Amino acid sequence: LNRRLAEFGTTIFAEMSALALKTGSINLGQGFPDTDGPEEIREAAVRALRDGRGNQYPPGPGVPELRTAIAAHQERRYGLSYDPDAEVLVTAGATEAIAAALLALVEPGDEVIAFEPYYDSYAACIAMAGGTRVPVTLRPSEGSFRLDLDELRAAVTDRTRLLLINTPHNPTGTVLTREELTAIAELAVERDLLVITDEVYEHLVFDTAEHIPLATFPGMRGRTVSIGSAGKTFSFTGWKVGWVTGTPDLVTAVRSAKQFLTYVASGPFQYAVAEALSLPDSYFDAFRADMLAKRDVLAAGLTEAGFEVFRPAGTYFITTDIRPLGETDGFAFCRALPERAGVVAIPNAVFYDHREAGAPFVRFAFCKRVGVLEEAAGRLKSLA
Ligand code: PMP
Ligand code: GLN
Repeated sequence: LNRRLAEFGTTIFAEMSALALKTGSINLGQGFPDTDGPEEIREAAVRALRDGRGNQYPPGPGVPELRTAIAAHQERRYGLSYDPDAEVLVTAGATEAIAAALLALVEPGDEVIAFEPYYDSYAACIAMAGGTRVPVTLRPSEGSFRLDLDELRAAVTDRTRLLLINTPHNPTGTVLTREELTAIAELAVERDLLVITDEVYEHLVFDTAEHIPLATFPGMRGRTVSIGSAGKTFSFTGWKVGWVTGTPDLVTAVRSAKQFLTYVASGPFQYAVAEALSLPDSYFDAFRADMLAKRDVLAAGLTEAGFEVFRPAGTYFITTDIRPLGETDGFAFCRALPERAGVVAIPNAVFYDHREAGAPFVRFAFCKRVGVLEEAAGRLKSLA
């Protein structure tokens, strides 16, 4: 393994899902729903397979039906208008979109700012692109993890090439506010930075939180690569259909890298996702309401079990602090948890460069059936 990748080892999600299988534990680690997405969308995939749509290489940018549906979704939800031919690119999940965007836009030695804790592929992809990652730490404050805007401003140097933003944020569940996004946008314009926004949880925002794409802010459409995914929005994480929207120049750049990573992917699933994106608002509302109810079940269970809970405004993850349980090391805690309670969770420290800053935090996924969450909560009570 080369020096760029040596530090990353095996992704925590694979490690923890394997541990769940081996110990027969309830897997609240890796974020995937235990209920598949809409039946009618699965039928759409079957129809595409049967009718021979997408069984051979689809077009490089993605099938026209899906690109049109992505553009229509951005317009309908956010008033963002994109040309389906020049400004939309279909990728093999958001993971490939992140990789291709970084490989296309980062020169060796460029600095990339990302908010830590960050989704694990960010660090590895910045490294593969030869960039230098510059973490800005989200810190716990009154029940949620917040960005220190001064710290962000101070992190920008003459070598900063881009900001890699994720909102709603995995693993903390933070949703950046309009004020925070305004400040980020102003900074990007002032320092002439590119921005990649990972918006895979765009439809999972709760209570009064609102997802506002950075591309909608003044001066941002021309410098923002926005990323979405059908995995999260439609509960088909195995289909690996994601997408990028941005200006023709940016999308062409991302496509230049993408064509040599996978070339294309997910032929028949692209047709099905085109139908999914065209579902009425009632689908998205029901999905959100279902996840909100699940959040509340798990948050209550974790609180009762003695964890400090950071109630997420978005995503399907709850970050907890384990110190009220007399624990300080999330890694050790998560390794022992299957044995102690028959539950698997993720130590947030893996998402930090400053590991000590993440040590006491542990993430639980709530995208599971209510009965499963209740069973997990019951098991976790034995820890107190
Ligand atoms: N970004 C974030 C923040 C994620 O949590 C995930 C995990 N699903 C991804 C990207 C990857 O998405 P996909 O499965 O579409 O590759
Ligand atoms: N995004 C999911 C999570 O954060 C899992 C993704 C993966 O397994 N790579 O849990």
